[in-house]
Amino acid sequence: MSKSFDYDLIVIGGGSGGVRASRMAASHGKKVALVEHQALGGTCVNVGCVPKKLFVYSAHFAEDFDDSKGFGWSTDKPSFNWHTLRDNKTSEVHRLNNIYNNLLETVDVQLIKGRGTLQNAHTVRVDNKDYTAAHILLATGSRPFIPDIPGSEHALVSDDIFYLDELPEKIVIIGGGYIAVEFACILNSFGVDTTLAYRGDMLLRGFDTDIRQRISTELIKKGIKCRFNSNVKSVDKQGNGQLCLSWDNGESSKADHILFATGRISNTTNLGLNNVNISTKNNGDIIVGDDYQTNIPSIYALGDLTGGKKLTPVALAEAMHFVDQLYHGKKEKMDYSSIPTAVFTLPNIATVGLTEEEARDKYTEISIFKSEFKSLKHALSGRDEKTFMKIIVDKKTDKVVGCHMLGNDSGEIIQGIAIAMKAGATKAIFDSTVGVHPTTAEEFVTMRVATSSD
Ligand code: NDP
Repeated sequence: MSKSFDYDLIVIGGGSGGVRASRMAASHGKKVALVEHQALGGTCVNVGCVPKKLFVYSAHFAEDFDDSKGFGWSTDKPSFNWHTLRDNKTSEVHRLNNIYNNLLETVDVQLIKGRGTLQNAHTVRVDNKDYTAAHILLATGSRPFIPDIPGSEHALVSDDIFYLDELPEKIVIIGGGYIAVEFACILNSFGVDTTLAYRGDMLLRGFDTDIRQRISTELIKKGIKCRFNSNVKSVDKQGNGQLCLSWDNGESSKADHILFATGRISNTTNLGLNNVNISTKNNGDIIVGDDYQTNIPSIYALGDLTGGKKLTPVALAEAMHFVDQLYHGKKEKMDYSSIPTAVFTLPNIATVGLTEEEARDKYTEISIFKSEFKSLKHALSGRDEKTFMKIIVDKKTDKVVGCHMLGNDSGEIIQGIAIAMKAGATKAIFDSTVGVHPTTAEEFVTMRVATSSD
């Protein structure tokens, strides 16, 4: 380490990307400090992926109790205790916070508690004390964005749902992305009267159209009320605490809560970007090159803050690349193609590679293989739920360029498919792979006849 600095690396932000980068740098002998003012683990551990997935498991039980009857089980009507779930979830989050603390201690990363503000290209101020480093990494993540409408101060964001004192009787969720559809499924399963209001006509923009069409059908079957082409104009809090929502078509609705799931914006408030003139896009995302370097050579940024795919595994992979590039001279850039993702709706959505629309733009000729069926489980459960799977193939090379699924456990299934696609698997390889029987996943290797072909 250069003698003129306190540290080799100061990381601001103790979420997935920041913790991973600190640990990797420190375990390779660098002197590292991590600045964080809240619990370690960031959005994913505290108010995102982890507690959300625990809620998804809980939500699934509502269906499982029902489904078990066709398999010979009978139970008294089960009841749900929100406080038990909420508090057990919080205990697990605290356990993970401690693990993160221990991981940092093990490799001698110094944790500086407080908010870090850039003072200059090599200095971070925390609680009026200055710390210097040869390099600084910004990894402060993102926070929920709430549109500016009258009464929006009465709205909840996803962070709040994890700590509600009581479940509402009735909620309206605004948005049609990951968080809106996941929380609609969760809250509906907990017995909350749930309305999902989206400004467009098809949920989950960016996903394959076949999936987008089918997910709303499944959500509506479960009792979620979907409003499309619908914008809330204002929210009024009434004397009894209830909210009155006015819609752009002149209608109004009452609800106990309104949840805005309308995207996330970069967490750059009080980060001191102006002190060092770091370049940002109009929406506040920090501009970086392939090596995560900002326009200030000693300052880097990664994860949600840079406006790419806001996914934990992406931030983790970026952190590994950042350390490899800065300290080990590696030149490989991160491969952002074919990043698999799942939306933990009931049933799950999972996807890897291109949508049909994207594949049509990119390739001259494609073949599409689709399968839609009722899974074996639902032959006895009686549940009216369809599984849908789709494979997109570049005809010229026979390579599988997109796989999409709506169905139970698709989040688990798509990981293996993503490995095959990363390895460049052709449709012939899919076809020659022996299925695991009887599973839903085997359908990915038994779709022989194209449903459409250019
Ligand atoms: P998304 O970007 O996924 O969705 C935002 C939604 O809000 C879109 O439907 C968008 O509509 C709508 N919207 C945006 N602005 C307005 C507005 N002014 N008025 C009305 N509607 C609006 O964001 P989320 O908040 O759902 O999630 C943030 C990110 O977090 C995700 O993109 C994802 O990267 C990550 N995430 C990942 C999860 C996972 O991996 N399972 C789970 C949860 C979050 P339109 O489509 O028309 O723009």
